[in-house]
Amino acid sequence: MSKTVPPTALCGARRPGWETGPAIGINRIPCVQDAGHDGDHVNAFGQSWPHTPKLATALLTLADKLATLRPSAAITERLVLAQALVIAVQLLGPGDAAEDAERDLLALLPAVTGQTRGQYAEELRDAAREVTR
Ligand SMILES: [Zn+2]
Repeated sequence: MSKTVPPTALCGARRPGWETGPAIGINRIPCVQDAGHDGDHVNAFGQSWPHTPKLATALLTLADKLATLRPSAAITERLVLAQALVIAVQLLGPGDAAEDAERDLLALLPAVTGQTRGQYAEELRDAAREVTR
């Protein structure tokens, strides 16, 4: 079990919701599987969690953010766009990968048609389920 692997060859994914901040605490310990592995992520403590596409994670993060704060308030397209871009950068860091993800994320956002924040969050969760399929 003492195989030496360069850090770039590791997956490094963190649990959804624990992506940011220092790798302190068991929930922030990243996946130690090889980069591009199949199946669940597994950390150095042997804990595993399902592989969720980053776009699905972004959609669910946005849904949680909107539903947690003032869920009965009206949603606006400006708010959705601003929050989507913030979340894309949080999940992927600045750079080309984040810009590509932003484009993909924007394409998946449901239309704003007068929903409340809570209703829009439900539509985001539906969109995330479509991505995960
Ligand atoms: Zn992994």
